[in-house]
Amino acid sequence: MSAERTNWAGNLTYGATRIHAPSSVEELQDLVARTRRIRALGSRHSFSDVADTTGELVSVAGLPPRIEVDAAARTVTVAAGLRYGDLAEALHRQGWALHNLGSLPHISVAGAVATATHGSGDGNGNLATAVAGLQLVRADGELVTLRRGEPDFAGAVVSLGALGVVAAVTLDVVPAFDVRQVVYDDLALDTVAERFDEIFAAAYSVSVFTDWAGTTRSWVKHRVDDGDDWTPDPAWMGARLADGPRNPVPGMPAVNCTEQLGVPGPWYDRLPHFRLGFTPSSGEELQSEFLVPREHAVEAFGAVAKLADRITPVLQISELRTVAADDLWLSSSYGRGVVGLHFTWKKDSDGVRPVLAEIERALTPYDARPHWGKLFTVAPEQVRERYPRLADFRRLRGEYDPDGRFGNAFLDRFVG
Ligand SMILES: Cc1cc2nc3c(=O)[nH]c(=O)nc-3n(C[C@H](O)[C@H](O)[C@H](O)COP(=O)(O)OP(=O)(O)OC[C@H]3O[C@@H](n4cnc5c(N)ncnc54)[C@H](O)[C@@H]3O)c2cc1C
Repeated sequence: MSAERTNWAGNLTYGATRIHAPSSVEELQDLVARTRRIRALGSRHSFSDVADTTGELVSVAGLPPRIEVDAAARTVTVAAGLRYGDLAEALHRQGWALHNLGSLPHISVAGAVATATHGSGDGNGNLATAVAGLQLVRADGELVTLRRGEPDFAGAVVSLGALGVVAAVTLDVVPAFDVRQVVYDDLALDTVAERFDEIFAAAYSVSVFTDWAGTTRSWVKHRVDDGDDWTPDPAWMGARLADGPRNPVPGMPAVNCTEQLGVPGPWYDRLPHFRLGFTPSSGEELQSEFLVPREHAVEAFGAVAKLADRITPVLQISELRTVAADDLWLSSSYGRGVVGLHFTWKKDSDGVRPVLAEIERALTPYDARPHWGKLFTVAPEQVRERYPRLADFRRLRGEYDPDGRFGNAFLDRFVG
């Protein structure tokens, strides 16, 4: 049993009666088969109640930490509970990389994949798009292997934990690469709106942070193999190259962040903003994010910018990122490239809730999908309408989990 009863942010105490941590896949299979209501728990980084249950929870973090590279297939099969940070260093030592990472390496692979966690980059799909296979313990305790290309595979990857407990994940890998990141201060908000596509096409991964009140900082991550002669433009888009390391969250120390100032380094130590072993983001916060189709990006940005006076008092920082389209049924980028409009809030639920509702109202015309793992108040029927393959997912859920063993209130609301 694990002692952790709350999520990472501390805004949610799990309703589970027990949290199990089996040390073998056989033990996990036995546990699932004999437990009436059970759900998988990752590294507890979701702010929403997506992982919660009034039944029992199971963490797969204690399974043997397998990391098996298949160089011919260009894949790695990993224990589902591994953190990206632990996987990445081992992978790099063998000459391989993942195509992208989220802002932090602290999250588990299975938990990130289950909610369509993403990094940034016009050409980069979210982290779930790297999944080439899954080993999943179904409701009857059977361990099944699903592979990309099989029927329904695209429905099973971003699963919200609804189909079973993932024991292992096979991910695509690419040859290891180096990245140089630089930060720019004071990119004007008007310029973001006017030159949006140009800004996000400027490098392999671009993130623009803003408080909506005039302070803006941009993280520009350039793949070294995209051109060794790359030198940062000191006045990129009218902004100023930062004269020292920065933390995107106001008041937080730069030492928590991966190395900047254009120093080349391995992909896993540059693509995330935050370093393993240090506090990611602020540590005292709530988060929300809305994924808006690329064609509405500038209008949606403008609609949110109009709410600056309401947002800024309860905000720590916002981040804008881009994600490529994919075919994963419950992915926030299913069928369309998106821009993520992200909000790291002060830890003040009562203050945040009405502002969040205003943002959601402003984004309604743009078909924005809320991040499954972050906070939102959009009505369940509106969320459901935004996923064209939801009925297919419901059918899949019925096949994998006919008795609702993996069900919870979140799935009742948003999947049905
Ligand atoms: C500081 C911070 C920074 C973040 N940055 C980003 C970011 O850059 N980009 C982004 O998109 N999101 C980001 N997030 C959100 C985060 O990536 C997601 O909430 C993610 O789901 C967390 O993974 P986890 O392992 O903590 O999963 P949990 O929160 O524990 O669980 C999430 C879901 O995964 C399911 N799950 C977990 N393990 C398994 C398993 N073995 N089998 C089946 N289902 C499973 C659970 O049932 C649940 O439904 C951030 C969150 C924090 C706290």
